[in-house]
Amino acid sequence: MSANYFDVVIVGAGFGGIGAAIQLHRLGYDNIVILEREDELGGTWHVNRYPGLTVDCPSTTYSYWFEPNPYWSRLYAPGPELKKYAEHVVDKYDVRRVIRFNSNVEGARWDDETQLWRVALSGGETLSAQFLIAATGFLSQPRRPDIPGIETFAGRVIHTAAWDDSYVLEGRAVGVIGTGSTGVQVIPELAKCVSELTVYQRTPIWVLPKIDFAFPSAVQRLFARMPFTQRLVRWFTDTTVDAVMVLAMWKYRHFKGLNIGASTLCAVHRFLSIRDKELRRKLTPDYDFGCKRPTMSNTYYRTFAKPHVRLVNCGIERIEPDGVVARDGSKRFIDTLVLATGFDVWDVNLPALEVIGRDGRDLGKWWRENRFQAYEGVSVPYFPNFLTLASPYAWVGLSWFNTVEYQMRHIARLLGEVQNRGARTFEVTEEANARFLDQMTELLDDSVFYLGNCVNSRSYWFNAAGEAPLFRPTSVSNAVKEQLRFPLSDYTLV
Ligand code: NAP
Repeated sequence: MSANYFDVVIVGAGFGGIGAAIQLHRLGYDNIVILEREDELGGTWHVNRYPGLTVDCPSTTYSYWFEPNPYWSRLYAPGPELKKYAEHVVDKYDVRRVIRFNSNVEGARWDDETQLWRVALSGGETLSAQFLIAATGFLSQPRRPDIPGIETFAGRVIHTAAWDDSYVLEGRAVGVIGTGSTGVQVIPELAKCVSELTVYQRTPIWVLPKIDFAFPSAVQRLFARMPFTQRLVRWFTDTTVDAVMVLAMWKYRHFKGLNIGASTLCAVHRFLSIRDKELRRKLTPDYDFGCKRPTMSNTYYRTFAKPHVRLVNCGIERIEPDGVVARDGSKRFIDTLVLATGFDVWDVNLPALEVIGRDGRDLGKWWRENRFQAYEGVSVPYFPNFLTLASPYAWVGLSWFNTVEYQMRHIARLLGEVQNRGARTFEVTEEANARFLDQMTELLDDSVFYLGNCVNSRSYWFNAAGEAPLFRPTSVSNAVKEQLRFPLSDYTLV
């Protein structure tokens, strides 16, 4: 075999790609490679290094189910601990040796004649592979806002997903655009060190109080020595997070009281944190809780009471070399512009690379013309030997690890069957894919996305067609169990 041939090419060394590699090793595949465009592993936990970054669901739930980490410092662990956890896992499971860094994949094409994937890298190299797994995450392509004049800004522009650790913020006049999950974490931290902070808010976000605490070292030792104690805590946080998702998001038709309760809690939090009535009004969302990822913070609201922090909510007219002009004509002079503007999910992330399947079918084009869809959130008809982990209807639960878990189990069952039957190719049938899409569509009819008031949310969970096909609207346990019982006849094995 040539040096450019692999049994499996995985794109992306985040938790999805690392999990896939571990599963493939367990299945006996050794000739595999993970192509990673960055110079380090960890995916989102490598590129996102902005001040204030913490995981936003309990750390006890945010890990591989087979590799608990007893040493999380807090219930909501800081970002660098997640990166460290990724490093620990790749070393323990011998994944590091198969990662190729600084390898940007431009596209992949199925070659029907040889029954192989041809994977093209920037720089001209092409690899061949029997199987291709795209583990590029939903949030890998940062969005730069298209604001008039932004390219003329003479100061420093930093996107939160490309943080410059060496940039000194002390004494700066900073403008932040964006008040999503990232904005809520970074704004209070910036306010601690900069001399002036102006926050440009387009849509207010729901903010819950955050119940967070440090794990004393005695508890960490207990988790390490008696792993069942941590599993018990994990069972509790897993079940709670899963129940909240199912009832408040997917079963909104029957449990809207939960969403109302959550928005009331946010209102009380806002009332207790901000004395200024007008400021409170500006920070109050006018869409239902759950339309957009809600956030948690005990410092976000209080930050706006500081004398050097200002909230602008009338919109941005233009950016000039030395500042930002708001729609009301006022100008703030700034020297640093922080973009907490999120990610381009629909236009460039799904899929994150050009994938051409059988009969020249272009995955991105086909999704846009025929609705976004993927069987069990992993496979698509006309794309043989291809699994895509950040897919329509893939994301189950708040913790990405829940998605990784059920997808690893899918890989194990599917590729196990491929091996048992001595097959060379698998492809999901059109019937199975259509059935799964119908099922997901029907389940979403009960969700907050379609029954709630989401019109003003500008949530990236919706695509241009007004559909919300990122999530798998089932419980985590249902998603996991389904991987043990989906009919293998849903795939054609040759
Ligand atoms: P986001 O939720 O998409 O928020 C982007 C923000 O930028 C929004 O407030 C948006 O306003 C604003 N914005 C974008 N373009 C703009 C423009 N042209 N003019 C003015 N405002 C503009 O992105 P994010 O906050 O980075 O969060 C994305 C996801 O990352 C989250 O949902 C979560 O899944 C994940 N995340 C996780 C963690 C964690 O676990 N620790 C932390 C942060 C993020 P509009 O709302 O009006 O569009």
